[in-house]
Amino acid sequence: MTVAELAEHLRASSRIAAFTGAGVSTESGIPDFRSPGGVWTRYDPRDFTFDRYISSAEVRHNSWKMREEFMAAMPQPNRAHRVLADLEAEGRLLGVITQNIDGLHQDAGSRNVIEIHGNVREVQCIGLFPKHGIPDGCGFTAHHDWAMERIAGGDADPDCPSCGGYVKTATVSFGQAMPEGPMEQASLLAEECDLLLAIGSSLEVFPAAGIPLDAKAAGARVVIINRDPTDLDAFVDLVINGEAGTVLTEAVRAANTTSTD
Ligand SMILES: [Zn+2]
Repeated sequence: MTVAELAEHLRASSRIAAFTGAGVSTESGIPDFRSPGGVWTRYDPRDFTFDRYISSAEVRHNSWKMREEFMAAMPQPNRAHRVLADLEAEGRLLGVITQNIDGLHQDAGSRNVIEIHGNVREVQCIGLFPKHGIPDGCGFTAHHDWAMERIAGGDADPDCPSCGGYVKTATVSFGQAMPEGPMEQASLLAEECDLLLAIGSSLEVFPAAGIPLDAKAAGARVVIINRDPTDLDAFVDLVINGEAGTVLTEAVRAANTTSTD
């Protein structure tokens, strides 16, 4: 009864943190980038490295097309997002660290969301000569719609209106350095929590995948909820293979109805 075990962990914890990946959003209709039908089966991931973005107008244009397709689907938060938002509202969950760029945790009502791979709803200036995968912009940021309006108006490759630098979605591309601020916040949250739920992540992409291990090293219990086994399964307290929404909903219901006598 692994869901019952998770319910016990939830009841015993007052400082929960969540670490989420693509599997949290699949119920919202956002396919895992690596799954059949996922974004990377229709676009070539080798095209979307940070360095290629800077060097090729065609890559930038294809990148905007991919973002437009993503936003047009208008994904909505699902019950996995809502369970986590409810736990935070009840004062039991400290925050969510997410690898996702879709903003659905915030849409569900989560307030403390640490986006370690950025987000798709903002664009930012990355400058004209960023080196070593580190954006070097002037500070210009805008909503995604800013770029879409310019592209609709005939500018296939919109520049920064302040400095003329390249503008890019505020996500972390392949070959781009992880943003220091969010990674530091994520590490602090991992050290602060007493239970870390790693949900819907294959835990393959480091350094992000090291966050659950940081929590474990700092004394938290760690539970992995994922459709498939992960390489970190042997190092954590509990592994549940299943869909995030189903597992979380059942576990929270069980935790709230179990007698506390
Ligand atoms: Zn600029």
